[in-house]
Amino acid sequence: MMLNPETGAPANEVVLEAIGLTKHFPVRRKLRDLFNRTHDAVHAVDDVHLTLRRGRVTALVGESGSGKSTVARLLAQLYPRTAGDIQLHGQSTKVKGGRQFRQYAARVQMIFQDPFASLNPVHTIRYHLTRSLKIHHNAGNSAEELEAALNNLLTRVSLTPPERYLDKFPHELSGGQRQRVAIARALGADPEALLADEPVSMLDVSIRLGVLNLLRDLKERLNLAILYITHDIASARYFADDTMVMYAGRMVEGGDSESVTQSPAHPYTRLLIDSAPDPDRIANMLGDAADRGNGEPPSLIKPPSGCRFHPRCPMAMPRCHTDLPVRLEIGDKPGHWAACWLYDEATVAAQPPGSAAAGHSPEAVTVAADAHPEEVR
Ligand code: SF4
Repeated sequence: MMLNPETGAPANEVVLEAIGLTKHFPVRRKLRDLFNRTHDAVHAVDDVHLTLRRGRVTALVGESGSGKSTVARLLAQLYPRTAGDIQLHGQSTKVKGGRQFRQYAARVQMIFQDPFASLNPVHTIRYHLTRSLKIHHNAGNSAEELEAALNNLLTRVSLTPPERYLDKFPHELSGGQRQRVAIARALGADPEALLADEPVSMLDVSIRLGVLNLLRDLKERLNLAILYITHDIASARYFADDTMVMYAGRMVEGGDSESVTQSPAHPYTRLLIDSAPDPDRIANMLGDAADRGNGEPPSLIKPPSGCRFHPRCPMAMPRCHTDLPVRLEIGDKPGHWAACWLYDEATVAAQPPGSAAAGHSPEAVTVAADAHPEEVR
């Protein structure tokens, strides 16, 4: 078993796991609904399975409203879950606040999209970092040890020399520097997993790469498990080891990043990749069906039956309107799966050669080995 030289922890060890994670937000009832027995809910996240391993970045990709940020907040235990389980090192966890939450947060930290909103504008960088170190008992026993820990945190996120930044206020830093401070604050807890919710989407394009490279460096040096939430599948291809794609609250495709981005199997993943501004390419690939693929995401209060992508899918078949797709292995690389009926044995057998499903080794199309039992019908 390979050990990380800095942390001594085994590489690839499972840190955090979501099993059938589900979150429904109740919709506030109007006066006219008081005598109505139905209780509407937003089906924000349904039956999500996700594994975060040490030394690996897992990207969760999808358009706005797909539920990816809700997954991060559920994993951070900021929201109670409706159903499913969250396991930390194989132990089921459910924390409500107080000491339990601090103990959990010491191992699982979150980085938010807007670094300015996540830092208190009336306090210095020294205050933010000291607070994190003290809450998580990493501040040492003397002023010298605290100063050394502060310097170490800022050096880790490449804000050097540290004394130039420690006594500044957030508004005196650039967006990229603020996000580095937010990352340093998360590292003050000495976590095993980082949940990064669109960490670069509010930064200038020119500095995004620097922050992603920093996260990748931390992943390697500190053997961190990182969840990288993004709507930009191109950055997932660059930065993440594994990529999961979400649509309308459900996972639709997953696997190692190269397979998912170079050989996308699910029509929605293909749409995400093809949505780069190249009208000729889109027209060539999808023909008349392009209009359907580019529609709006569905309502999550009454999500579409069967496959939630069917109203937009250029390949939709009659069964897609009624049957919820299960995870099916694609067969090009181990662990690459898609929740799409195109890869069902019966559909593949009926496909003409050269069609979408036939392009992915139809003989290897089977129900994924790691599919959750309830998903396999
Ligand atoms: Fe399209 Fe059907 Fe696959 Fe859904 S299951 S993505 S509707 S082909």
